[in-house]
Amino acid sequence: MTRQDCLDLDAADVLAPLREQFALPAGVVYLDGNSLGPLPVAAAARVARVVEREWGEGLIRSWNDAGWIELGQRIGDKIARLVGAGPGEAIVADSTSANLFKALCAALDLARGRNVVLTDEDNFPTDLYIAQSIADQRGLELRRVPASQIAARVDDSVAVVLLTQVNYRSGRLHAMAPLNRAAHAAGAVTLWDLSHSAGVVPIDLAADDADFAVGCGYKYLNGGPGAPAYLWAHPRHLARMDAEAMRQPLSGWLGHASPFDFSPDYRPAPGVARFLCGTPPVLSLAALECGIDTVLAAEPHGGVAALRRKSIALTDLFMTLVETRCEGQGLALATPRNPAERGSQVSFACEHDAYAVIQALIERGVIGDFRAPDLVRFGFSPLYTRFVDAWDAAFALHDVLASDTWRAPRFQRRGGVT
Ligand SMILES: *Cc1c(COP(=O)(O)O)cnc(C)c1O
Repeated sequence: MTRQDCLDLDAADVLAPLREQFALPAGVVYLDGNSLGPLPVAAAARVARVVEREWGEGLIRSWNDAGWIELGQRIGDKIARLVGAGPGEAIVADSTSANLFKALCAALDLARGRNVVLTDEDNFPTDLYIAQSIADQRGLELRRVPASQIAARVDDSVAVVLLTQVNYRSGRLHAMAPLNRAAHAAGAVTLWDLSHSAGVVPIDLAADDADFAVGCGYKYLNGGPGAPAYLWAHPRHLARMDAEAMRQPLSGWLGHASPFDFSPDYRPAPGVARFLCGTPPVLSLAALECGIDTVLAAEPHGGVAALRRKSIALTDLFMTLVETRCEGQGLALATPRNPAERGSQVSFACEHDAYAVIQALIERGVIGDFRAPDLVRFGFSPLYTRFVDAWDAAFALHDVLASDTWRAPRFQRRGGVT
């Protein structure tokens, strides 16, 4: 394999033109789109238009005239297309953390009488914190078990199985259908966090028979810093919530059946709209919609299935390049080698100071990520990452390690966000 071979792969890649949707800075290899997706060209223009025309000239009329009030549902329908859900089943609102709270409470209300939330011991911290908070408020148990034991540990005390599909550190991918089956066989329901998988891993919530899902807008969906998140519930649960007039705990006015009646009594909106809470962040939603559109732009080229094939090729290539090029330099693969068991990132445990190694790489124009205590992590978004980027990143990593540049004191200084 040579660098020219990588350039040839890029020249033959039908997805390559999708990169033009992004305003990526020159000279940067961006391998952190699993943490913050890059700026879509369309988002800058769209946000400017929303500010100047819709807000500046339209003023309050834009809630109706520019469709602001429908954004959460309209964008929810677009995300639904990426995760195997139908229109009217997903909404965009709030953060992933807040949506986890709403969805987990609703799932627990549907499973009255059971007292355990079962989760993966290395689930993302906010998922664990929110679940623990609910468990404390309701006198339930949050049971944390190793990822490999989830299916075996669902029993008839479990109300909800709470899982993140792709682990943020290792990139390990849970198989969704068998875990849904195991949960249902024991009478439990599932709540999936798709933050590290939507847009890059084929997801079929309906065919795989999931119960609830939430996820993040600013990672592979390129929605911008702090983009709103989404929430999906299976239509069978929405129907039951309708029939029993069930509410979710953050029963704000925009989740009311008729908010502009200003009634003093809460009546939930039908369907997934009951999961809305307060006034939507219109500027952020406008940017998010442009981000989602960058992923939907792959539909004519095979959609998420085609993105997945390229993602596997990129991550396979990067693993091989790093393992051959950086042999003996203190890196150990921390991501499953079998592509069926991983998402779209590659992590290595690093026996040197992993934080400093990443800082030194960033100075060379390769933006990866550090995750405590010892991981260097590289996300491969197939929408804009080229095969030659994988090549250049692996060689930059080799140079940083072989030259010991990471030892320079300037690479030890840590900001508030690492
Ligand atoms: C990124 C991420 C979140 C983010 O939650 P916010 O409330 O948006 O900060 C939550 N869960 C998982 C699994 C994530 O990867």
